[in-house]
Amino acid sequence: MSNDVAGELLDRSARCVDEGEYEGPASVSPIDGRLAELGDGLALVTSFSHVIAVGDGDGLALVDTSSEALAPRAQTALRTWSGAPVTTMIYTHGHVDHVGGARLFRDEAVAAGSPRPRVVAHEAVARRFARYDLTHGYNALINARQFRRRSQLGVGQGDWPWDWVLPGTTFSDRMTLRLGDEVVELRHALGETDDHAWLWMPERRAVCAGDFLTWVFPNAGNPQKVQRYPVEWARALREMAALRPELLLPAHGLPIAGERRIARVLDDVASALESLVAQTLEQMNAGARLDDVVRSVRLPGELAERPYLRATYDEPEFVVRNIWRLYGGWWDGDPAHLKPAGAAELAAELAGLAGGADMLASRAAELAAAGDHRLACHLAELATQAAPSSAACHGVRAQVYRARRDSELSLMARGIFAAAADESERRTGGEEGAQSSRGTEQ
Ligand SMILES: [Zn+2]
Repeated sequence: MSNDVAGELLDRSARCVDEGEYEGPASVSPIDGRLAELGDGLALVTSFSHVIAVGDGDGLALVDTSSEALAPRAQTALRTWSGAPVTTMIYTHGHVDHVGGARLFRDEAVAAGSPRPRVVAHEAVARRFARYDLTHGYNALINARQFRRRSQLGVGQGDWPWDWVLPGTTFSDRMTLRLGDEVVELRHALGETDDHAWLWMPERRAVCAGDFLTWVFPNAGNPQKVQRYPVEWARALREMAALRPELLLPAHGLPIAGERRIARVLDDVASALESLVAQTLEQMNAGARLDDVVRSVRLPGELAERPYLRATYDEPEFVVRNIWRLYGGWWDGDPAHLKPAGAAELAAELAGLAGGADMLASRAAELAAAGDHRLACHLAELATQAAPSSAACHGVRAQVYRARRDSELSLMARGIFAAAADESERRTGGEEGAQSSRGTEQ
């Protein structure tokens, strides 16, 4: 059993994997709310994140529930396919774009007079929700910065929930679940998060991979979020490959069919992560500073070109920093950074040597115009730290960060640089200036 949407998505993933064709982010990351029927009693609704439904006429199990904002659309698509009550919700992990729709599906069941669905997840999900409650403001701010104008995805500012639907059935390493007539296995592994679960459905030879596969470079380096686990992530991908799945259903991006095709993707993503870890550890063990490591570790070129490893979301440079943090500490090896002077104090000293904050700003503009965005940002930052009320310095800083944003590929880098540009634009042209420039962000 499959429908046209399934055929279209599987054909697309086959082209991407077999021929290395990359048709752009929208093509590999469908979020349009359509339902792909991928087998008897198995459907995937594309969303941010996808909702996967397994079941028969008696009841449905959902693997993830999408975000609060997108769940109603996913529910509509799902209800064109099956009218069966949702009896189980499985969280692959506790990120809000995976659990945010849980209330909708729970309330739907209750309103229909069905029992509340059981909610199944790794035991660390509840700890995650507790941490989110401690850092509510921080998460709202950083997600607004990371996702920018993507509030429609339900992950930006103002979308951060308090009333979690907590899992009532939890596991630590593995758990076997019966979904109707079908027996499935949940397995825990560290990866993007510490609370991740993926599913093995032996009768279908299918894996629900959660965020272990996302059709972008793995989110193993996110600069604003807690520790990620690249080596364990790679190990989980290899464990999936060892099961020789014939269908791979990720929580983001395209489903993939075909044993050899799936094996190739899993091996490539695992190899990319393993390579970054091995290179970073080699240098750490030889006494390098973080700066040396960041400058020299590179992803093997052929992997960076894979359609499912594009650095459009996270990027290898950030992963290197996360590996340093995981195996080392926060200190980067530069003795001056251990107990540094205040940023404003250092900036004032350097501005004095340079002949004023304006000199730093004009050099920043020159460097940006010449395409040296990294250095330009340092000087623009120093200029406004030395002269925080200078509209001229903020004007240059806004320009420099806008150009930096435009030169970057990853959503995470673009979001942070665009937020910096907005901040300075508000100091020069007011809120209106920042608003109109934000309108150009895609
Ligand atoms: Zn996700």
